[in-house]
Amino acid sequence: MSGLLEGKIAVITGAGSGIGRASALCFAEEGATVVVSDIDITGGEQTADLIKQSGGAASFAKCDVSKASEVEALISGVVAAHGRIDCAFNNAGVEGEWAPVHICSEENFDFNYNVNLKGVFLCMKYEIQQMLKQEDGGSIVNTASIAGLVGGKNLSAYVAAKHGVVGLTKSAALEYATKKIRVNAVCPGAIKTPMMERLIEEKPAMAAAMMATEPVGRFGEPEEIGRAAAWLCSGQASFVTGHAMPVDGGIVAA
Ligand code: NAP
Repeated sequence: MSGLLEGKIAVITGAGSGIGRASALCFAEEGATVVVSDIDITGGEQTADLIKQSGGAASFAKCDVSKASEVEALISGVVAAHGRIDCAFNNAGVEGEWAPVHICSEENFDFNYNVNLKGVFLCMKYEIQQMLKQEDGGSIVNTASIAGLVGGKNLSAYVAAKHGVVGLTKSAALEYATKKIRVNAVCPGAIKTPMMERLIEEKPAMAAAMMATEPVGRFGEPEEIGRAAAWLCSGQASFVTGHAMPVDGGIVAA
């Protein structure tokens, strides 16, 4: 049986760790050739090696998504190597510092904005330029968060950036709906990744409170986001665009 993404060329940012790594493995398992990208060279190369060890096709390309020149080089590199981009999972993100608005530093706000929102914008910009040249378009999935759907105390810079990702996703979906380019977002709840491990270590009470609000009674696994992103990228989701899909064990349903 062939996979959901058989023969597709996919690029995934933030793929050196957590959700991005698990997603890269899922995309490869579904038959995609994966360009693993991350600011972290060691983590990114490890992900590409893991895919190759399991029989998949992958390469690594370093990119800081907050820098236009690096994103442009990433996308032109994928096209030079593979001739096209069918699927893009714009997933790189940072949590920044936890602080209420009145003591949130300008640096923290800028950091969240530059990586979590501008990074997604830059990736979409260069991916869409390429997908517009392709007769059969392409499919883009952005990583937002449940913090892109509802507010959250002490995380306003992150929440603002992630709400921006949802807005960008919906607007781009409308702009390119007739061009065979679908644009969706996944909105993870609390997922067991190094980002979440940092929270558990630094703010155990907050992590426990998050766990207490989880309707399913557990945190999510990074693969559970990867499978949703792979499905959204695939032809199985051909009529789905402009959607911000919670993958959160039910938190935002409450
Ligand atoms: P993670 O384990 O920290 O992985 C994020 C990866 O992105 C890391 O390899 C990181 O590298 C890389 N990165 C950071 N800044 C970058 C930049 N400027 N350019 C390119 N790569 C960069 O985090 P994760 O939990 O997998 O998070 C992945 C995405 O899911 C993020 O967008 C996050 O906001 C979102 N999310 C996560 C959760 C959760 O519970 N884990 C929930 C909702 C949404 P370094 O390690 O070197 O910084």
